[in-house]
Amino acid sequence: MLIDAHVHLDKYGDLLDEALKEIEQEQIFTVATAMDIPSYLELQKIGERSELVLPTFGIHPRRAAEYADRLQEIGRCIESSPAIGEIGLDFHWVKDTNTYPAQRKVLEYFIAAAREQNKFVNLHTKAGEKEILDLLEKYDVRRAIIHWYSGPMDILRAMIDFGCYFTIGVEVHYSDHIKAIAKAVPDQLLLTETDNPGALRWLKKNDEVGMPTAIKDVVNKVTELRQSTPERIESLVHANFSRMIKDDPWLYEIRNRLLPSNS
Ligand SMILES: [Zn+2]
Repeated sequence: MLIDAHVHLDKYGDLLDEALKEIEQEQIFTVATAMDIPSYLELQKIGERSELVLPTFGIHPRRAAEYADRLQEIGRCIESSPAIGEIGLDFHWVKDTNTYPAQRKVLEYFIAAAREQNKFVNLHTKAGEKEILDLLEKYDVRRAIIHWYSGPMDILRAMIDFGCYFTIGVEVHYSDHIKAIAKAVPDQLLLTETDNPGALRWLKKNDEVGMPTAIKDVVNKVTELRQSTPERIESLVHANFSRMIKDDPWLYEIRNRLLPSNS
């Protein structure tokens, strides 16, 4: 089974039906990450339409400033969500430094909750890589998916030592740095993502909508870089995701239902 560990399903608009159809046809287990509260509410509805979709609640660093004084509200949403994401820090694309304290406050609230409630996290780390690793260490949150890692190699290695998982995504087709990362992540920590539907459009500066089968292109490229086979990469990623949620108190049923072949 293919695993797409970071997708924004609520952003498909008119193409949502088609996207869900592809997910079912190709049997792509999809972690549907939220950007904010309205996005999460939308994802919960979408999640009811497919057993392959796991909606998760998070506040994207771009939206953190609007939520820094709404932690109680955030807390209620976290409790209703089986996992956490998208959360993180962005000190690169977000230029307004006034938002940075809010980003830090909101992120730490989520990480503390992840620790308390034993939920895995899906992290955006752009230019905040070291700080995020420090937080994961501080709260001993071991089940962390680092989404679209593009930071320095020494922090990558430190995150690997800590046991973080890494999603390789669509930029693997275009960037030498991402290719190097796709080769450096050890077998047991490798995951895949598309960051659909916007990632391809953002990278290629066109109006392409990323559809779920883009995950196959990622698998093929990773296969080439790691000199493997698509079948082996697919089953490796499947085994890694299954292992990550093996003892997850919130996902036990999903694990048994969807990922029975690996332990
Ligand atoms: Zn994302």
